[in-house]
Amino acid sequence: MPLGGLHEIGKNITALECGEDILIIDCGSTFPEDEMLGIDIVIPDFTYLIANRPKVKGLLLTHGHEDHIGAVPYLLKEFNIPVYGTRLTLGLVESKLKEHGHEGDLREIADGDRLKIGCFQIEVIHVTHSIPDAVAFNIRTPAGCVFFTGDFKVDHTPLDGKPIDLRKLARIGEEGVLLLCSDSTNAERKGYTPSEKNVGITLENIFRTNPSSRIFVATFSSNVNRVQKIIDTAVLCGRKIAVSGRSMVNVISIAIELGYLKVPVGVLVDINKIKSYPDSELLIITTGSQGEPMSALTRMADGEHKSVQVKKGDVIVLSSSAIPGNEKMIFNTMNKLLERGAKLVYNDIAETHVSGHACQEELKLFHMLLKPEFFMPLHGEYRHMRAHAELAMSLGEKEEHIVIGENGRFVSIKPHKVELTKDKIECQPILVDGLGIGDIGNSVLKDRRILSESGLIVVAATIDRELGELVSGPEIMSRGFVYEKESGDLLSDAARVAAETIAKFDLSALRDYGPVKAAVKSDMQKFIDRATKRAPVILPIFMEV
Ligand SMILES: [Zn+2]
Ligand SMILES: [Zn+2]
Repeated sequence: MPLGGLHEIGKNITALECGEDILIIDCGSTFPEDEMLGIDIVIPDFTYLIANRPKVKGLLLTHGHEDHIGAVPYLLKEFNIPVYGTRLTLGLVESKLKEHGHEGDLREIADGDRLKIGCFQIEVIHVTHSIPDAVAFNIRTPAGCVFFTGDFKVDHTPLDGKPIDLRKLARIGEEGVLLLCSDSTNAERKGYTPSEKNVGITLENIFRTNPSSRIFVATFSSNVNRVQKIIDTAVLCGRKIAVSGRSMVNVISIAIELGYLKVPVGVLVDINKIKSYPDSELLIITTGSQGEPMSALTRMADGEHKSVQVKKGDVIVLSSSAIPGNEKMIFNTMNKLLERGAKLVYNDIAETHVSGHACQEELKLFHMLLKPEFFMPLHGEYRHMRAHAELAMSLGEKEEHIVIGENGRFVSIKPHKVELTKDKIECQPILVDGLGIGDIGNSVLKDRRILSESGLIVVAATIDRELGELVSGPEIMSRGFVYEKESGDLLSDAARVAAETIAKFDLSALRDYGPVKAAVKSDMQKFIDRATKRAPVILPIFMEV
């Protein structure tokens, strides 16, 4: 049962259940949507797993991207289960767990390993992706083999020299695959995803043709092989390297420690000391390729970075593509960098980025090698899954052998029979805000939206209960509604309206002030609407003496 990752790109998590065993595959988070005001991240709903706690035997991780490991700390708050992942994946999980102040039972796996968790027998298969150490799983169940690709592309010339062993996939296909669960991210794109090697060649060219400029490269911190290529090229050109951005500093130090990144001694320099090096001898690696508001590159574009001032002659490479929804922020950052006189090189100009996901021809290769009896597209919005289903049909897969699932809906897996059932469980995205997990519901978000659109008016009054008289107020305070200093008349008129409404009640006869508050709210709404055509939140507060 997928608990996340379908009809969306993000928070991937699938539970495989058989008898008394549940195995979880991946546990990712996703970014909040624009209307989820103030939400930090979104994680999957663990209700079903919690209800079946004794069955949950372990968590298998395909790779270290946020949409696959981002919610691991939240899962481990509920479950004390072993977490299986490759070295780099576990390194990234460990640093995440540390931030949350816990440890986990982390168990390292590698390409070729075979392990047994409950009644499941798992074979680990290395795949190429935009982060090193990504793996697929072939999971032998009593009903047959279920193959999870994880995120992958077929790169025959990856920068770390570790391509996918296609012969292994052919062997697994020969042994028989009942169900293939595959990455659908690029299922709409024709052809092949270009090799990471192409980006390496572009980067070399940029360094060669700009020998006297200071060079910046903004990229995804998790793309460790690309970061290695950037470092190697800089070293070859005799440049020192400074690193900016929290996640870049964090991932680089984990990758160096685990041996995934090799940096010659003396090459890394403190970002605060870059002024001691000539432009021609400096490379700055930074985060912020998505134009994120607080990221290093955005601060540089805004002229607010503590140690880096972008200037005329600087060459800034965006080695990335826009994650859908981020375009506006990226364009903003680009415009500001250009205004400061920098030269920008990005994916529309040169091949500074390639995708980490398989396009149609690579997906076909997986289908043909694995020859599954049944197919279930994962990791995609509906259009991606639909395109992937059509691709499978073009290869001869029968329509009734394709399952397009839904988060929270059971898929039944029996020998020679896989089908979508009608059984569904509640499976809502869980919103995390600060330390609160799942406590922010729709009504809170609705309030936040109204507050953000029209602001707040507080009507405060103090009442003498025995005399039934107003002692002070009503006083009007507002936030995000009008600029109080310039709207004195409006607010004093509003105070008069509130006073008139309160005067209609015999305060000494009332058991509570509910009806007065309701009347104040309603009269105030009418007055504000007439005067301003706005609809702020109105909050009457009555104190008693
Ligand atoms: Zn990924
Ligand atoms: Zn992913």
